[in-house]
Amino acid sequence: MTYQPPVREHAFILRDVLNIDQHGNLPGFADAPFETVEQILEAAAQFTGEVLAPLNHVGDKQGCVWNSDFTVKTPDGFKEAYKQLCEGGWTGLGSDPTYGGQGLPHVVNLAFSEMSSSANMAFSMYPGLAHGAYSAIHTGGTDAQKETYLPKMISGEWTGTMNLTEPHCGTDLGLLRTKAVPQGDGSYKITGQKIWISAGEHDMSDNIVHLVLARIEGAPAGVKGISLFIVPKFFPKEDGSVGARNEGVKCVGLEEKMGIHGNATCVMQYDDAVGYLIGEENSGLKLMFVMMNEARLGVGLQGIAQAEAAYQAAAAFAKDRLQGRSLTGPKNPDGPADPILVHPDVRRMLLQSKALIEGGRAFLFWTALHGDLAHSHPDEAVRTKAEDYMGLMTPVLKGYLTDKGFQVCSDAMQVHGGSGFTEHFPASQYLRDVRIALIYEGTNGVQALDLVGRKLASKGGRGVMTFFQEIDQFIGENDGDAELKPFIDALAGVKAQLQDGTMWLMQNGLQNPDNAGAASTDYMHLFGLTGLAYMWALMVKAANAKIAAGSTDPFFTTKIVTAKFFIERILPDAGAHLAKLKTGSATLMALPAEAF
Ligand SMILES: Cc1cc2nc3c(=O)[nH]c(=O)nc-3n(C[C@H](O)[C@H](O)[C@H](O)COP(=O)(O)OP(=O)(O)OC[C@H]3O[C@@H](n4cnc5c(N)ncnc54)[C@H](O)[C@@H]3O)c2cc1C
Repeated sequence: MTYQPPVREHAFILRDVLNIDQHGNLPGFADAPFETVEQILEAAAQFTGEVLAPLNHVGDKQGCVWNSDFTVKTPDGFKEAYKQLCEGGWTGLGSDPTYGGQGLPHVVNLAFSEMSSSANMAFSMYPGLAHGAYSAIHTGGTDAQKETYLPKMISGEWTGTMNLTEPHCGTDLGLLRTKAVPQGDGSYKITGQKIWISAGEHDMSDNIVHLVLARIEGAPAGVKGISLFIVPKFFPKEDGSVGARNEGVKCVGLEEKMGIHGNATCVMQYDDAVGYLIGEENSGLKLMFVMMNEARLGVGLQGIAQAEAAYQAAAAFAKDRLQGRSLTGPKNPDGPADPILVHPDVRRMLLQSKALIEGGRAFLFWTALHGDLAHSHPDEAVRTKAEDYMGLMTPVLKGYLTDKGFQVCSDAMQVHGGSGFTEHFPASQYLRDVRIALIYEGTNGVQALDLVGRKLASKGGRGVMTFFQEIDQFIGENDGDAELKPFIDALAGVKAQLQDGTMWLMQNGLQNPDNAGAASTDYMHLFGLTGLAYMWALMVKAANAKIAAGSTDPFFTTKIVTAKFFIERILPDAGAHLAKLKTGSATLMALPAEAF
């Protein structure tokens, strides 16, 4: 079974649930009425399904190869596929038209990114990292830096990286040691080692633009003394071509990993590499967070993308594999056994996966649309709300959706039985590949802390209050809708639980910060469940409208059954999360280190 891009699912969310055409007066959306978007989705499905998906297994088997001349060879076919990616204009879909991008809404770009990541996660990380670097330069670069780098990064001729991690410094960036020495001509000499740098070296683009966090000599200790630098692999020439090699930056090795073998995870050595400050001195982290926030949404997307591909493989296997008989009598009487899809427990795994994927995808697209509104809506109140949502939802989407993505990939392996544990089926690769998404871009534990420690309280809790109000308003507006009632009631219930958990955190987290830390992951999951309950209510409303208008398409009835499964068999977890988070930190912190 090869991955089939879910164009219909994307179209349903963009047209029927989010109704993107209502934003047709905004820049980007004006060029993308739904008919155009649908054509883009079809073309994206063709490219990702036919070009990227067949390379997924190749990339896993071959991996990347480091050479002693500090070059890296990507798996067979990656280079050619990357050329097609650039020629198709996919690298500039959502980028600024001033520098050659197509300026389409971020939410449309997200649909492409999901397909690309499902088809081949390791490959899609090369343009993904480049887009993050593009965004940081776009936000913080000087005009000259933007003119030099952005057009090449949009066209895909040059890619980009983000260099934060050092051997002794992962989560705690305040420990960062890489140093930057001013040369008096506006440039700096950068020295230090960065590890686990995704796409740090490869053979697919003419140049690699490294964005590197370093400490300028004499800067304050901790996170307040960190600056961001552009360190190009080759120096750009005036005419836009690449010039001399920046000799001080080299990939000195690759990491052996459990997954994403097709993506080069590099040890980068900087020895007096020439770099250029981007943004203000000592405010590098702020700018890096532009990249990180975008990247965190992208990582949440990877959770859903791998889950989708794994679910498709599991569903196909479940229809094919014959074992046992249905508890209610044979369903395949002429065969030696029934397909395993007849067994309620196999269905439980598949429906759970389906409900999490479709709800999670809607939550991602809904948030990405707010990203577009934050960027271009003329009404300041809409922009403010959208910005608040982006801040609040980003850690939830990263943490919750990757936790659930992993669960779905694990269930997909379970549906395959022993075959899933072998390398003859793709389930193993999906499970191995998705696992990193729970770790990088800030571990999921750190996302949960960001949510309870920063995002909740930000601007006096304005974001979360607005979210509660929006849900209340939706419930009020749809109160009399009998068809929607079970979904509205479920939403009202989980929203009350989230409010309860939020109140508990306000009262107990401030008084003892360990209470906030102890509650954080359960709170993040409670938040994720509330987001999905809202999305399922929106999706059922859209499906009901189609059915009321005369549609007999099983797509819509399937949505309603999946939503019922969500409220019957997934949403009850909210109660457990609330109960757990309210137990506080006392027991967790009771044991001395020797007891572990
Ligand atoms: C394949 C791969 C690709 C990567 N790509 C990049 C890249 O392109 N660029 C880059 O800069 N980095 C990259 N990384 C690094 C990645 O972002 C880090 O691994 C991640 O941020 C975690 O840091 P760490 O591994 O040092 O874990 P640590 O920081 O040592 O954390 C270990 C554990 O302790 C927990 N922990 C740590 N501090 C706290 C705290 N304050 N509160 C609660 N829990 C805490 C963590 O949640 C985690 O469970 C990559 C890593 C891998 C494996």
